[in-house]
Amino acid sequence: MPDPIDIRGYRALPKSDCHNHCMLGGKRSVIEKHYGKKLGRFKAKQSGIGELNSWIGNELRPFFQLPDAFEKAVEAAFIQAKVDGVTRLEMSIDVLFPMMFHVPATRIVTALKYFHQAVAPEIDFCPELGFPRNKSMRSLLAGFEPFLNFDYFRSVDLYDDEFAQPVGNFKELFRFAKGLGMKCKAHAGEFGSSDSVKEAAEVLELDAVQHGIGAAGSPAIMKWLADHQIPLNICPTSNIKLLIVRSYKTHPIRILFDHGVKVTINTDDALVFGDGVSEQFFKLRRAGVFTDEELDLIRMNGL
Ligand SMILES: [Zn+2]
Repeated sequence: MPDPIDIRGYRALPKSDCHNHCMLGGKRSVIEKHYGKKLGRFKAKQSGIGELNSWIGNELRPFFQLPDAFEKAVEAAFIQAKVDGVTRLEMSIDVLFPMMFHVPATRIVTALKYFHQAVAPEIDFCPELGFPRNKSMRSLLAGFEPFLNFDYFRSVDLYDDEFAQPVGNFKELFRFAKGLGMKCKAHAGEFGSSDSVKEAAEVLELDAVQHGIGAAGSPAIMKWLADHQIPLNICPTSNIKLLIVRSYKTHPIRILFDHGVKVTINTDDALVFGDGVSEQFFKLRRAGVFTDEELDLIRMNGL
């Protein structure tokens, strides 16, 4: 294992990123160069998803008005993964992106295929479709449909405001995706309780939970997750920057790990929160949360 004071050692190790939102996953310097100016830094004043959505609206929306901004964002996301030493990448595209930014599904698939091959063909890339939980089923289905022609996407994720509508509203959508052979994932227990993690996992028949840190509040639910081998794709820096968790030292990933829950470490939004997977391994090690051997177990969970 690498010297814990040297970030380069972590970058050199093969690792996964199973929780990555492509449009927010780019290497900042690449985006800023294309944009021609610096993006403002994200700093939350209170816990919740609202300030993040405001930041996206204020900082990134103008960027996406530029021609080729979509392609540049995809390229930046693959560059970020490559420099981070990611060898397995599950990265989502929002099904409503074509409607919001007038980028047709075919252009999205073309860009993902092109930049995967051009930037990081060595990465085992699993393209994913993301569904925002605060939108109507009607608009989500309309957004999903054009992507179905490509037989390209391998997983689905449900995200954005965890409290926007009951998870049961998405049961049929997820059952349909599962029927197509897609891996089913959803954000739960980021801000919500342990019960919300189990409910999402059961109702949507999840193969993995995005975040899921709320489960640390219940030994019974941690046991249930461990028994069912449902991994949590955790993003410690995101949790800290969104003021859900105070520090790496107090992050509930340690409690989850100690209760036998399979955990992985992921970026969420490297463009916004600033850290790749390697930086988070480094910070968890430096804070004394895990030993080298434990971090290696966690790293292997995602591979
Ligand atoms: Zn996320």
